[in-house]
Parts: sequence; structure tokens; C-alpha cells
Amino acid sequence: MARPSRPPTSPDGTAADPSAAPSRRSLLRGGLAVGAAATAGLAGELWTGRGRASAATVDYPGATWAPASTANYTASNRPTSYPVNLVVIHVTQETFSDTIKLFQDPAHAAAAHYVVRSADGAIDQCVREHDIAWHAGNWDYNTRSIGIEHEGWVDQPSYFTTAMYHASAALTAEICDKYGIPKDRNHIIGHYQVPGTDHTDPGPNWDWVRYMRLVNGV
Ligand SMILES: [Zn+2]
Repeated sequence: MARPSRPPTSPDGTAADPSAAPSRRSLLRGGLAVGAAATAGLAGELWTGRGRASAATVDYPGATWAPASTANYTASNRPTSYPVNLVVIHVTQETFSDTIKLFQDPAHAAAAHYVVRSADGAIDQCVREHDIAWHAGNWDYNTRSIGIEHEGWVDQPSYFTTAMYHASAALTAEICDKYGIPKDRNHIIGHYQVPGTDHTDPGPNWDWVRYMRLVNGV
């Protein structure tokens, strides 16, 4: 799941234990506790205009614009302001629709650039690529990355569908081509690889070999 990192760095309100290494324990804690806590914090104001924005507002032609609250990211002018050299892979620990609602909640203090839906691989864009989304929980990583959320739970592999893998890999490949990012695991990373995080996503059920083959078109 996305987690915030206000400049310079600020912990979010969920499951804070920055010293914890990814482990089975934190995996379980994340799967069972974070989703409920985040859902409980949902704001009442929902953005109901999904799909109405013009295509010009998205950076990826296949995406639907579903803007996050401006309180959940930092406006910027990347790649002029910061280089973009990472893609960070997340799993939402929420449904697709609840994730979009959370990103529209100005109190959520987190958002990712994209959210990919499990059932059909549909993609919503919530933050423009030139802006700095608060998803990695690490300001330095946020400044130079694109964050992609995937609908599902780390302990429920059935959410990681073929449609999702293919749609997400095509998105990541396009981002890598655009910014000159190598299509390897040093530059396409899981949230769990971000220094200081206690998040485990995308978790052991995410098929990195399959995903990287798709990203590389092989
Ligand atoms: Zn995450």
C-alpha cells in the first residue's frame, strides 16, 4: 500500500515500526490490520466523476484519470526537478475502489501514481508523473520514482491475475522507455525494498520472474 512521505520524511499513521524487517509477522500484520485501519479512516467526500476527465490529463494513454487529493502528493516538474529512475510496485491491501477513495481523502497523506484493477487490468491514474506521489514512505525514493498500486492482498494470490500482470507490465515498460529506466530489478522494485519501510508488498505471491519477462517483452 502507498504510504506517505511528506518532505523531508514523515511517518504515516499506520503500522509504524520502521525498524522491522520484512517478515512473516509483518506480512500478517499488514494484511490483517492495515486494511481495516485505513478503511476506518475513509473520508466521506467521494469524487464521483470517474472517467469524465479528458485524456490529456493522463500520462498513460490507457489510463482513466481519477485524481488524488492535492494534499496527498507534492507538485513538481519531474524529470526536470528530479530524475525519474525507479518504479515501485505495491499491493493495495484494499479494494480498487476503496484505494481510489483513500487517495481522494485529503487526510490520507498518501497516494500512488497508478492503481491497477485485479479483475480486468484497468488502470486509474491518480497523480501525474511529473508530481511526487507519497507512496514509498521515503522522500528520496518518492522524488525519483513512479508508484504503481495493484488491487489485492499480499496473502491472496488469486488477486494477481493474468490481466493485471499484463496491464501493469505494459505500463511499467512504457514508463521505463519514457524515462530511460533499465528494465531490471535494480530499477523496478517492490515497496519492501525501500529503505526504512516496514511494508512487505507486493509479497511472496507476486511473480517477479513472470512480471519482469512481461516488462521486457519476452
Ligand atoms: Zn506499498
